[in-house]
Amino acid sequence: MNIILLGPPGAGKGTQAQRLVEKHGMRQLSTGDMLRAAVSAGTPTGLEAKSVMARGELVSDDLVSALIGDELDAMAPGSGAIFDGYPRTASQAHSLDVILEARGRTLDHVIELDVNEDALVERITGRFTCAACGKGYHDVFERPRVDGTCDKCGGHEFKRRPDDNANTVRTRMAEYRAKTAPILPIYEARGIVARVDGMADMDAVTAAIEAVLAR
Ligand code: ADP
Ligand code: ADP
Ligand code: ZN
Repeated sequence: MNIILLGPPGAGKGTQAQRLVEKHGMRQLSTGDMLRAAVSAGTPTGLEAKSVMARGELVSDDLVSALIGDELDAMAPGSGAIFDGYPRTASQAHSLDVILEARGRTLDHVIELDVNEDALVERITGRFTCAACGKGYHDVFERPRVDGTCDKCGGHEFKRRPDDNANTVRTRMAEYRAKTAPILPIYEARGIVARVDGMADMDAVTAAIEAVLAR
């Protein structure tokens, strides 16, 4: 099974992808995570992406598509992929078709997380993750069960993304509206889009996604 989670920044893509990974052993392919790893490691890709990401703009299509191709090549052929934050442009959507076909994979579902933009700034400015295992949290909506301790790995160090500020979020939303939302019709024409209410609580969103996967 290969699926895309589509939605603006803060829609809940990463949260839901982590749950699918735990439950079904699928693999999460997040171009945002790959780019942040490249920035931390100071690779040429990271150097190219760093300032673009800080502004909330999109990095080049060729760069992210190359990252996705490499990740898929490192995966067992039978394991499922969750594309999180990719594709984000029509050009990336086209590249994904080519990349999947070359590897004998097909796209089963595109799950659109339908959210109210007004809620996204609060979601994003309250977001933090475990520095050790990457588990996602929120200051209000998903606090660790024990303050200061990661539910999943017991880690005590957490981090926040430099681009998760109210200013950059506006640019990221505008990029989504202008470049990413327009790719939905490509998948609608194939009859593989399912729209899920991303404003529901996290468990309800998970249940709705599970229902789509079970179709
Ligand atoms: P969010 O989940 O909040 O939308 P991401 O972690 O997916 O954020 O992305 C963070 C930043 O990384 C984006 O603002 C953009 O600069 C860059 N980025 C991530 N994925 C892509 C992509 N597929 N194409 C272009 N830029 C990307
Ligand atoms: P994305 O990957 O789409 O950018 P995330 O999954 O990182 O979004 O979610 C953004 C923030 O909102 C996180 O802090 C997360 O804990 C929180 N969040 C995710 N889904 C929900 C939800 N359904 N209701 C309330 N908060 C949520
Ligand atoms: Zn952890």
